[in-house]
Amino acid sequence: MSYVDEMISRAIDKNPGEPEFHQAVREVLDSLRPVIDENEAMYRRDAILERLIEPERVVSFRVPWVDDKGQVQVNRGYRVQFSSAIGPYKGGLRFHPSVNQGIVKFLGFEQIFKNALTDLPIGGGKGGADFDPKGKSDREVMAFCQSFMNELYRHIGANTDVPAGDIGVGGREVGYLYGQYKRLTGRYEGVLTGKGLTFGGSLVRKESTGYGLVYITEEMLRNHEMTMSGKTVIVSGSGNVAIYATERAQHFGAKVVALSDSSGFVYDPKGIRIDIVKDIKEKRRGRIKEYVDEVPSAKYTEGRGIWNIPCDIALPCATQNELTLSDAKALKENGCFAICEGANMPVTQEATDYVMESEMFFLPGKASNAGGVTTSALEMTQNSERLYWSFEKTDSRLKEIMVNIYAQISGAAKDYGYEDNYVIGANIAAFKKIADAMHSQGI
Ligand code: GLU
Repeated sequence: MSYVDEMISRAIDKNPGEPEFHQAVREVLDSLRPVIDENEAMYRRDAILERLIEPERVVSFRVPWVDDKGQVQVNRGYRVQFSSAIGPYKGGLRFHPSVNQGIVKFLGFEQIFKNALTDLPIGGGKGGADFDPKGKSDREVMAFCQSFMNELYRHIGANTDVPAGDIGVGGREVGYLYGQYKRLTGRYEGVLTGKGLTFGGSLVRKESTGYGLVYITEEMLRNHEMTMSGKTVIVSGSGNVAIYATERAQHFGAKVVALSDSSGFVYDPKGIRIDIVKDIKEKRRGRIKEYVDEVPSAKYTEGRGIWNIPCDIALPCATQNELTLSDAKALKENGCFAICEGANMPVTQEATDYVMESEMFFLPGKASNAGGVTTSALEMTQNSERLYWSFEKTDSRLKEIMVNIYAQISGAAKDYGYEDNYVIGANIAAFKKIADAMHSQGI
């Protein structure tokens, strides 16, 4: 059996009940074959792949908190410190009922590669809890965040592990988590990113995942003599990533006609009014169906089905495995030519295979959604400098890094004879840096 196949089996055998982690490991290792084949003996001797798929540390903990009725609730929290080869662990916290160890490990594993692509000195980690912030009062969210930090604080630090947001963790949650970290430790350091702008947060952080997605998409199109201008775009989700991807795509002259949430989707053939979406989601913490109350010409449909709408470019920005094989086929049939991932692994493995075979452009999330963590690392830089950068400076650094990520992934793909295969390109470009860092630092 080849080294790669042995390692895929090992990931499955040693991590039962973690299908998303298996999927992420398989996707990455499969595409590393050309590199591993070049020097299999060396990688085997160094046990590079065994070490790569085994997190340095997994912490799981009890999170008790009191709800508004006075009832004590108990959730489970996690922090997976996956790899410090390139720098301090860095990656978000996700609060969602679907969170379990396998999901956090898949996200942490992806994060190592994503962070390596930014060329900034950050390793990979991820955390979260099976807590559902939906429908909770502000006080309940604060109580949960404080209890979560009561355990997490002992594992993190500005130079060791710097969490941030992800699904269910935005500015409000980061604020509560940061306040509790300071109370517990008396250290006023930049231990979290995505902080409020009045206490060490960075301009552009909120917008950066969505903006970065559009910057790299535009760069890919530019390299193929195209542009987003005039294209019809579908964005799934309506959280932070989706909102700012929509905003930037519109700025580049694209027409975004649909957005969604876990209940359904809105279709607005005239083009989504992003000011209205921001008002619903950011101010009222409402649901996307409220959009049709303000724009009666738009249509709300319950359930899945957003990918049946004709478009040129699809930007899945909701969650993992949200775009399946039948969705990919429907997109292709309706003329879509590019799928660029804003969420982490939103396209299933089968759908990805189909997309690659049918010669659509495909940007994997570990490259195309790296804008968020990029600006997080720029927030760490600003905190270390005790300075704030302007919006323009931060945004132009972000754009530069996204353009550089495109150059790396397209370059690596070409070097190995897989031109325009950005899945292989992203995995190879990132792996080479991680493997080099691991090898150089010995055992
Ligand atoms: N959760 C984001 C991601 O998936 C951002 C992580 C961070 O800023 O550390 O990359």
